[in-house]
Amino acid sequence: MRSIFSYAIAVTGAVALLHAAAALAQEGGASSKPRSVEQIVQEARSKNPALRIRVDPVTGLPVKVRGLRPSVDPEVTLGASRDASGQPSDDDIIKTTEAFFRTGELSAAFATASDRSKVVALRVRRDPDFKGQSIVHVEQRIDGIPVFGSSGRVHVSPSLAVTQFTTTFSLVDVGSTTPSITKERAIFAARERLRELLASDKDRKSLDRLRAGFETAAAEAELVIYDPALVRGRKAAARAKQTTRLSWLTRIDQFRIFVDAETGEVLYFHSDQRWMMPRQVYDLNRGFLFPGVKLVDDVSGERHEPLPDDASNAYLNAGRVGEFYSRNFGRTGILELGEEELLSAYVQYGESTNAYWCTGQTFDCPGSGAMVYGVSTPAALDVVGHEMTHGVISAEADLTYADESGAVNESLADILGTLIEFQENPGEANWVLGEKIPGYARTSAIRNMANPNMIDVDGKSLFDRNKPYAHDNRGQPDHYDDYVTREDPICETTRDYFTGCVHFNSGIFNKFAFLISEGGRHRGRVVKGIGRNKLGRIAYRALVAHLTPSSGLQDSAEAFDDACRELVAVDGSGMDSSDCDRVREAQSAVGLAFAGT
Ligand SMILES: [Zn+2]
Repeated sequence: MRSIFSYAIAVTGAVALLHAAAALAQEGGASSKPRSVEQIVQEARSKNPALRIRVDPVTGLPVKVRGLRPSVDPEVTLGASRDASGQPSDDDIIKTTEAFFRTGELSAAFATASDRSKVVALRVRRDPDFKGQSIVHVEQRIDGIPVFGSSGRVHVSPSLAVTQFTTTFSLVDVGSTTPSITKERAIFAARERLRELLASDKDRKSLDRLRAGFETAAAEAELVIYDPALVRGRKAAARAKQTTRLSWLTRIDQFRIFVDAETGEVLYFHSDQRWMMPRQVYDLNRGFLFPGVKLVDDVSGERHEPLPDDASNAYLNAGRVGEFYSRNFGRTGILELGEEELLSAYVQYGESTNAYWCTGQTFDCPGSGAMVYGVSTPAALDVVGHEMTHGVISAEADLTYADESGAVNESLADILGTLIEFQENPGEANWVLGEKIPGYARTSAIRNMANPNMIDVDGKSLFDRNKPYAHDNRGQPDHYDDYVTREDPICETTRDYFTGCVHFNSGIFNKFAFLISEGGRHRGRVVKGIGRNKLGRIAYRALVAHLTPSSGLQDSAEAFDDACRELVAVDGSGMDSSDCDRVREAQSAVGLAFAGT
């Protein structure tokens, strides 16, 4: 009894210290918070030397913890139920996870600026590689309001012990959670801002339908905490110099707009439509009205032969993508919704030359979980693989489609889309994307993972972030030092302005993946490749077990290393620790290693 009491005193003391440190940091004083967390960590480590913890230098909060000694929470395990195979129930796994952040040995290290913030478990998924283990998705809330982009992936053992986790948390440095302006005023402010954005001539073709229907476009808003570091990633957040605010997250069509709930100022916006790069446009005078005419339906057995090429290709290529995920990773569907999961594909959409995955109903989407194809795009297996992978990503890490996390989202779609092409269509596979789209070729593709900068026939680079986007300036960065933001001319002049340049910065991560698989020399560093199969295993495990909605480029590269090291322990993975050293070499070659690692 006595020992429990004194432990409680020690923890309370640490929390008070942390709050004082956070207040200091807010006033611009030197933050002593990392040291305080260090004390907590030291204490935990003295009891468990295997413990590995990485602390975010900006927030002072732990972002990665490995090697926790499996200890079960008696309050949870007492009365926990198990099914016939000995698997604990989802309810008990959730209780374990929430109790860990509330009262576990490291809970004091997660003390934020507000003691009203809580960690809530949202979802339990089974680990695809380790039987009986679960991966729990968590987020922070304050007074019940979600902290946008705050998230974690917590690994819980079959015995109901937390063994490791990755978190991207906010200090939740906000005062009142009562908004000063109404939801209606926030929607008004968001609509005004969107009107301004649409008045510019950016992205003429793709946004014209929203322009035409703008006045009647439905809008909804919910309160969230906006922390720029979580939404925008390290580099863009540092440039924006914003603080954490209570905000109305307003959704109008494909746009998300964060409105300050106190001042009504628009804090940030981004387009959440996950697409490939715009390409050459043909006016084929096709319709816009969903759902159109049904040509194939596997449930009813309906099939109108002969199928037009686009419909036939959409059907066949979607099947190959599903087969890839099932054969390699045991996945049972794109979203894994169970038996009722149906993949609907809409082909020959209007004048569009894009293909995209829909996460909700907008002017250009019939609803969530659907593929929409512009003319001829279904023939390109890498494109179909890319777009359907956006669906898998949305069901797992759900990386926010903006700035850094959006670049990772795009890159994972490129990586897995390319691996799908290699496995399902080996004769025609390559590391360039979209070469089968009208207007592009293998020598002049949309993106090139081997050389994201791309080169013209004379060997001149097609990437200069300080010049406007053009046919001879359409490459991507291939190193973190060249990271592109919305203000850089190459991005500012494109539709990618709306997403925080996700289709540019994916090049950095694409090059990372290419080096892991194929090896090569980059920026003076030599990497030995480990092959495509291992790259696929690593990418998929990182996606389901480690990445969170706000993982940045560096976090994600590190997640590849973590996933690799875990896979070494999986029977039949064929991986050993030297493979993971190659992953680290590639991480350094593209500038994604954390300083001091
Ligand atoms: Zn995409």
